[in-house]
Amino acid sequence: MTSYQSTIKQLELLRDELTHRIEAIDADVHHKKEPVEKDFAEQVTQRENDEVLMAIDEEAQQTVHLINAALTRIGDGSYGTCADCGQDIPEKRLAALPYVTTCINCAE
Ligand SMILES: [Zn+2]
Repeated sequence: MTSYQSTIKQLELLRDELTHRIEAIDADVHHKKEPVEKDFAEQVTQRENDEVLMAIDEEAQQTVHLINAALTRIGDGSYGTCADCGQDIPEKRLAALPYVTTCINCAE
């Protein structure tokens, strides 16, 4: 049986980091919604910043979701197998992105 201890540790660390990032962004965006006096140009910049932050937030949440799925798959023994086609996911891909659940072909 393959041991995924280091992968589990890596995934958990990444999840912690992302969770903190999501919390920081949520706090930041929430704070920015408070009424502040700004001219129009600043408001536009502000809104664009918020959109960027929300996009990062969304991506981070998506990754957390994938990390949880990967941890579940390690638990049930299906980790490293593409969730779509059932082929083995190359180790190189898993090393770079330990939370992926599909092979490159299915990801595209
Ligand atoms: Zn596949």
